[in-house]
Amino acid sequence: MELQNLTIEEAHTLLTQGSITAVDLAESYLARAKEKNKEINAYLEIFDDVLDQARVADEIISAGKATKLTGIPIAIKDNILINGRIASGGSKILENYVAAYDAYVIEKLKAEGAVCIGRTNMDEFAMGGSTENSAYGTTKNPYNLDRVPGGSSGGSAAAVAADMAIAALGTDTGGSIRQPAALCRLVGFKPTYGAVSRYGVMALGSSLDQVGSFGKTVADAETLFKSIRGSDSRDSTSLPDDFFREGTSIKKIGVPRQFFTEGVDKDVIATFEESLEALKGKGYEIVDIELPTSKYALAVYYIIMPAEASTNLARYDGIRYGVQVQGKDLLDDYMQTRKEGFGAEVRRRILLGTFVLSSGYADAYYRKAIAVRNQIKREFEKVLNDVDVIATPTSPTPAFKIGDKVSDPLAMYAQDMFTVIANLLGAPGISIPMGKVERDGSQLPIGMQFISARGTDSSLFAIGKDFEGIIKG
Ligand code: GLN
Repeated sequence: MELQNLTIEEAHTLLTQGSITAVDLAESYLARAKEKNKEINAYLEIFDDVLDQARVADEIISAGKATKLTGIPIAIKDNILINGRIASGGSKILENYVAAYDAYVIEKLKAEGAVCIGRTNMDEFAMGGSTENSAYGTTKNPYNLDRVPGGSSGGSAAAVAADMAIAALGTDTGGSIRQPAALCRLVGFKPTYGAVSRYGVMALGSSLDQVGSFGKTVADAETLFKSIRGSDSRDSTSLPDDFFREGTSIKKIGVPRQFFTEGVDKDVIATFEESLEALKGKGYEIVDIELPTSKYALAVYYIIMPAEASTNLARYDGIRYGVQVQGKDLLDDYMQTRKEGFGAEVRRRILLGTFVLSSGYADAYYRKAIAVRNQIKREFEKVLNDVDVIATPTSPTPAFKIGDKVSDPLAMYAQDMFTVIANLLGAPGISIPMGKVERDGSQLPIGMQFISARGTDSSLFAIGKDFEGIIKG
């Protein structure tokens, strides 16, 4: 039986009606994943126990205890630990590292009997926006194999877009779920910082990182998010459940048009404006907003993120984890291991981060960036007294060609201009398919992004469902 293009909702109905078993579903997705992965390289590993997991799911279903995710094939980004499995973070330095425990989000999925199909490709340690920084080759965009799927969670996005999984987990530090979702025509959701425990997730920028969901529909992204959320004492930044507000309604949308300057594709802006008109037709009010300090958001992000990453990555010294290269003494062991094990982008950010934290420069860069981040937060809070949500395109361009930006880090960083703000604020953000634009004769997906106040995650699903109902293609 060929089962494809299913949403979680549809698969759940088939499973609980008894029309299919979890093993049928797993076999179908597994066969396609094995076949398509040869050209797309979305998975770094397709697990060997998928059918065993599906059998466990079938028992849960037979016992009448199925929840939404029971038996659903899900892809997992390679920086999320699964007990007994390799977790490489897309890096050579961890190519032989086997996780000794499950991440909180994996505990949650296992408790529901979800079926983890495999671990997905990513930019090394989630630094990048194209998967080209992976030590294991680039993932291809299923909509055009010459183009990137976005990143850093590009493998997770491509796996769902190519129907090699029904949904996927990713992480988002500066846009790594929302941008690949936009480029692969998916819904991508980054929760409020603290909504999902980071326990068992490789740390990149600890004040920015969140685990979130990919789905083909808003409902699927919501279902997966609801399953992995929840407070956890093992993550000190985890928020109590009562922090979150259900049912806040969204009526007024703020648009910061100050950002639509150079570097934003004209077709993307045109489609975005048409989409706003469509939202107006649905009864939403659209107003212009000013976020003056947000023009520094990208600069601030690219100081704070490398600063935190350089500290977090200090643990990869060849002694405690992964690959070890023997040097002439202990210091040389460290240096050779890190030189061999880390790719160019990771080394660049470690250098940048160490520099902005070093004595004599910390005041000028790191502490200044923190001050500007606080100012951005204050401005955002003020704007949210007037509007319920902020809308922007997710990414300034559609998927670019593989190789186009590898030698120009600043051009790569500029891709994150709309997404980093949510991470700096700790606010939830969602990307929803917004149609397609044509490039070189091929139709490439783009996304609409909504950002709302911390704790109002559920309202993004509400406006997201309205939006996906009016936008075709
Ligand atoms: N592209 C951004 C960066 O390279 C975002 C990465 C992420 O969200 N993990 O930092």
